Amino acid sequence: TQYVYRFGGGVSDGGKGDRNLLGGKGANLAEMASIGLPVPPGFTISTEMCTRYYEEGQSFPESLKAEVANGIAHIEAVTGKKFGVAADPLLVSVRSGARASMPGMMDTVLNLGLNDETVAGLAAISGDDRFAWDSYRRFIQMYSDVVLELDHGAFEEALEIAKEDKGYSLDTELSAADWQALVKRYKAIVEEQWGKPFPQDVHEQLWGAVGAVFGSWQSERAKVYRRLNDIPADWGTAVNVQAMVFGNMGDTSATGVAFTRDPSKGDRAYYGEFLINAQGEDVVAGIRTPQYLTRAAREAAGAKPLSMEEAMPEVYGQLAKVFDLLETHYRDMQDIEFTVERGHLWMLQTRNGKRTAKAALKIAVDMANEGLISEEEAVARVDPAALDQLLHPTLDPNAPRDVIAKGLPASPGAASGIAVFDSDTAEHRAELGDAVILVRVETSPEDIHGMHAAKGILTARGGMTSHAAVVARGMGRPCVSGVGSLAIDAKARLFRVGGREVKEGDVITIDGSTGEVMVGKVATVEPELAGDFGVLMGWADKVRRLKVRANAETPLDCKTARTFGAEGVGLCRTEHMFFDAARITAVRQMILAEDEKGRRVALEKLLPEQRGDFVQIFEIMAGLPVTIRLLDPPLHEFLPHAEEEFSEVAEAAGVGVEALKRRAAELHEFNPMLGHRGCRLGVTYPEIYEMQARAIFEAAVAVAEKSGAAPIPEVMVPLVATKRELELMKDVIDSTAKAVFAEKGRTIDYLVGTMIELPRAALKAGEIAEVAEFFSFGTNDLTQTTLGVSRDDAGRFLTTYVDKGIYARDPFVSLDVEGVGELIELAAERGRKTRPGIKLGICGEHGGDPASIAFCEETGLDYVSASPYRVPIARLAAAQAAL
Ligand code: ADP
Ligand code: MG
Ligand code: MG
Repeated sequence: TQYVYRFGGGVSDGGKGDRNLLGGKGANLAEMASIGLPVPPGFTISTEMCTRYYEEGQSFPESLKAEVANGIAHIEAVTGKKFGVAADPLLVSVRSGARASMPGMMDTVLNLGLNDETVAGLAAISGDDRFAWDSYRRFIQMYSDVVLELDHGAFEEALEIAKEDKGYSLDTELSAADWQALVKRYKAIVEEQWGKPFPQDVHEQLWGAVGAVFGSWQSERAKVYRRLNDIPADWGTAVNVQAMVFGNMGDTSATGVAFTRDPSKGDRAYYGEFLINAQGEDVVAGIRTPQYLTRAAREAAGAKPLSMEEAMPEVYGQLAKVFDLLETHYRDMQDIEFTVERGHLWMLQTRNGKRTAKAALKIAVDMANEGLISEEEAVARVDPAALDQLLHPTLDPNAPRDVIAKGLPASPGAASGIAVFDSDTAEHRAELGDAVILVRVETSPEDIHGMHAAKGILTARGGMTSHAAVVARGMGRPCVSGVGSLAIDAKARLFRVGGREVKEGDVITIDGSTGEVMVGKVATVEPELAGDFGVLMGWADKVRRLKVRANAETPLDCKTARTFGAEGVGLCRTEHMFFDAARITAVRQMILAEDEKGRRVALEKLLPEQRGDFVQIFEIMAGLPVTIRLLDPPLHEFLPHAEEEFSEVAEAAGVGVEALKRRAAELHEFNPMLGHRGCRLGVTYPEIYEMQARAIFEAAVAVAEKSGAAPIPEVMVPLVATKRELELMKDVIDSTAKAVFAEKGRTIDYLVGTMIELPRAALKAGEIAEVAEFFSFGTNDLTQTTLGVSRDDAGRFLTTYVDKGIYARDPFVSLDVEGVGELIELAAERGRKTRPGIKLGICGEHGGDPASIAFCEETGLDYVSASPYRVPIARLAAAQAAL
């Protein structure tokens, strides 16, 4: 097997199709080189080597040595420099690059190849002592941090002390001699901490760095990121070794990052930041505040320092051409890293840029309108899960706000929560149920878990492409970054700004769309669903086959669902209606009644209430199917707890409190989820389902009479395991329908069906379909009963299960396609065999999960049903599944 692939200098052993083998960075470096863009030469060690490295106990095969030597020879041939030779030393960067971009997760080492001898050569060749010694100290610092894993604080401290001694405030004030002295100090630190001198052998340096990149694939940070982003551990990372180019060789040199379109709003405008006389990492790290790329952006921000367009017009012109070329070539918005070395432009990276949901929508719709991609591609481009960001409320523009600071609008959306100052606290407080805003000077990959737990992120430093901004956008968290006026004292757990003080636990609000930071909670408004959103959803609807319904039981939910384009209700849970304060006493009276007569008295009181609920729902869902699930939960959920609750019920029922308590004790169950619930209630107390059926049909008739648009009730019996159960319940429902229709002199079409949520029901689906006119897969319970895992108790061990790869994802979030999925396929097949055309749907949480929706499409279900806010996600996911 070949493990090393060259690029640059007219050679490209790979290309953009080789992402799996070369990682995203390596594949795109090769691609850029092959289309004639200026890429410093280098080579990629493939991801296959990463896998082999771990298979062989973290060691490299002998054969790799010769391949790497060839790779180095390639770089030497193109650059004319020699690795480890003082006269004209070749320096390289060692960069990781996995298939999927993992921003900041993997560590890059720059300036590798410097030692006590080559540093002199670099000084001579560049004619710049200061640059040479600065590069050497950067290298020692990075190498010690990334490869040797020494404490980086010691190096930063040494630099601070050196600056203090000289009375400098900026790094740029240090002279060649200052850097040289610091190098000496750095080497001493390495020896103190590591017990050995800093490696002078450039090959030892190279292999150390390569090993560190592969090693970082299994770092905790990388594992967390993979878990959060569903990246399998066996993909591995590639390693890129590439000739260094220098953005820090004086005022005609620079480095920058750019997007071909605005990644935050999606506007068609170059967007980015650059720094003159700086090296790559400086822009991202937020050490110096970067300058704007374009004049328009600088002017819009009212900033002083010249943009690249103004400061380096010629190189900027070249860069702009490269942007256009890359966007047309990749047919997507690109995220680009570049460096200018003494007026010469070099491309260091390109990839499809991460973007906010808003930008994703706008860019997809714009590109389709520009003719760059098709409508279907536009539909495929938008991540359904990311739509979530757009569907949630934003700050009410008319609500009063107490703005205390303003930063960069780094990731859109608004969030309120208590301020916390470190990621562990963020995670902890979030677990306790607090909405949390994570406040940091700047974030680093160690903050990933805190950022994930937080509702929003606020940083004092860093630009629009800082770690905080990039990661927050990726996660869909609102973020305000670079609030320079914020004085954060993380130790004291507070920040000060403009004479105000905010302590840990105080509520603040951030608006990631404007950059505003506010004290207190600010009211919000509903999202805007027209415009690009509407256009894309229209295209999605043209493509999809699956219908999308909503799980909704309140008039508000039903209205939201319709606004979001639901084509019916897939699950209306009637018990939620029973919890209403005005009704709960009657419900309790029904449950605690000793006999049928007692129950009927209570049910009489509930009938008009329940009918009223359905009238409202049918009116809102006019003409659309509404699946109503009859009473399902274990009765104990309704039982009174407090003394006064018992006496209220006792009074309503005209019985004694003590008798009631005895009855409540009788109803106690050891395992209520597998107890007296679902259709077992209807089998033992048919009068309950009879009342519910009557409410449904009376409401349907009333609405049909009033509006003319007859509702289509689908009456659903829960927790059925056998055909006989459903038969009994269907008798109750049908005879009630008959009675109501006779009384009212009007008939309504309706269906009777069942939820499939027990493995036995799935297995016996063929028989059950003799009675059932539809199946709705209740995948929450079906997952619970198939896996034998209680949803409510799974939290304690499921994460470990996912970490250990036992389940790829939380099976309550994303359907266990292999296990539960097989039961669904089997039930669908057996059901259809008995009753061709039987209506099939899914109504668990999975109905809003894109991966599960793809499964439903494959299985040929008729519809998915999701919570109202997830309806657009489901529409888009269903379209993508059909493509
Ligand atoms: P990441 O994936 O974290 O962005 P990169 O491998 O892209 O890491 O490198 C980090 C920074 O180092 C980039 O900003 C890039 O500009 C700079 N860099 C990497 N390789 C080189 C090189 N050969 N010459 C100059 N700068 C480089
Ligand atoms: Mg990069
Ligand atoms: Mg259920």
